[in-house]
Amino acid sequence: MKTVIQNGQVFYQGKIQSLDVEITDKKISAVGKHLEGEHTIDAKGLLVIPGLVDLHVHLREPGFEHKGTIKTETLSAKHGGYSHIVAMANTLPCMDNMETIADFKQRVAKDSCIHTYTYSAITKGLKGKELVDFKANHQSDIVMGFSDDGKGVQSQDMMEQAMKEAKKYESIIVAHCEDESELQPGACINLGRVSKENHLVGINNASEYKQASRDLKLVEKIHNRYHICHISTKETVQALKEAKAKGLPVSGEACPHHLILTEDNIKNLNPNYKMNPPLRSKEDLNALIEGIKDGTVSCISTDHAPHAFEEKNKPIDQAPFGIIGNQHAFSLMYTYLIKKGLLDLETVIKAMTIQPAKVIGLDHDLAVGKDANIAIFDLNAKYMITEESLYSKAKNTPFLNTECYGLLKYSIIDGKIEEM
Ligand SMILES: [Zn+2]
Repeated sequence: MKTVIQNGQVFYQGKIQSLDVEITDKKISAVGKHLEGEHTIDAKGLLVIPGLVDLHVHLREPGFEHKGTIKTETLSAKHGGYSHIVAMANTLPCMDNMETIADFKQRVAKDSCIHTYTYSAITKGLKGKELVDFKANHQSDIVMGFSDDGKGVQSQDMMEQAMKEAKKYESIIVAHCEDESELQPGACINLGRVSKENHLVGINNASEYKQASRDLKLVEKIHNRYHICHISTKETVQALKEAKAKGLPVSGEACPHHLILTEDNIKNLNPNYKMNPPLRSKEDLNALIEGIKDGTVSCISTDHAPHAFEEKNKPIDQAPFGIIGNQHAFSLMYTYLIKKGLLDLETVIKAMTIQPAKVIGLDHDLAVGKDANIAIFDLNAKYMITEESLYSKAKNTPFLNTECYGLLKYSIIDGKIEEM
């Protein structure tokens, strides 16, 4: 069957252009002008882009299905325009062995509505004491790399061994950088004005950048692929910039919440403003935006982290870290960064599609011969983020009752077109 998406504003070869896109069965079969087909979609005024790629989500299954499931959280991602996501390993049991990974693959085949992958843990149980079997876990085609996300790998020696193992299998280390020697018990938001005024224990910038800098030095020695999760500090951006200038195979991601909000936005100490790393200062936010502009930070990921209401709805110093974000990531980026002139549309599209795909070695783009994984947005459609409109099982987002532009009109997964 042949379908032509006509007259869209298509992201093609790095630029937005007025084009038609032809899909035959599962593949993109032509991109050009005046294409004809038996079925057509009128995309006049709509943005047609490769499906979004999220390198950082917590699906909570297996083990924490009361927070979210593969079914609910991939549905949330799909409604955000995502076609490919990679889940973190902090499930129960932990994604640190072949059996759990094989079981996850079966669950994904049954319940996921988009392309879903996972990372293997770096250390058993994310405990930082013993490496997983890199060779065995890497063999599963659902494993995209290795990550202890949720915890930093404290021992330099352990990280060095992990990098050497990853290098052996040409895989990637995806690092949550957090130096626990910099943390005080009960730390919950950024160390700054808001933590001081409210007598809360703050999280300093060093807890992130010290470990990121340590790792980047190791990469200089080992030359393995290495990616920094959810960068939140200006110092981490600078360290990554210097590492990239040396030609190292490194990359990094930022999350929409760190690009839109600062500690000053925390309203009434609402726990939905609590995530790790925390909302930082305006200076950090500006450095992140600059990092995306100059290509230092090449990916935008969500760190989508659902929690049940009764778990999250606690005083901010007791609530768990994490917020949901995959359903509205693109429209939030469009509304609060692109429309405000802080970033341009092409830069954001690249950082949410082809660049993250490249980091994990996915063959994904809007181009002839590629699988047809496409998202079509109406950037002029305005809507409100409400609890009722969320597809996630969880509701923990600081963006409730926020007005947004950019509604997903169609999701196309492997040529299967769905009007949203
Ligand atoms: Zn993390």
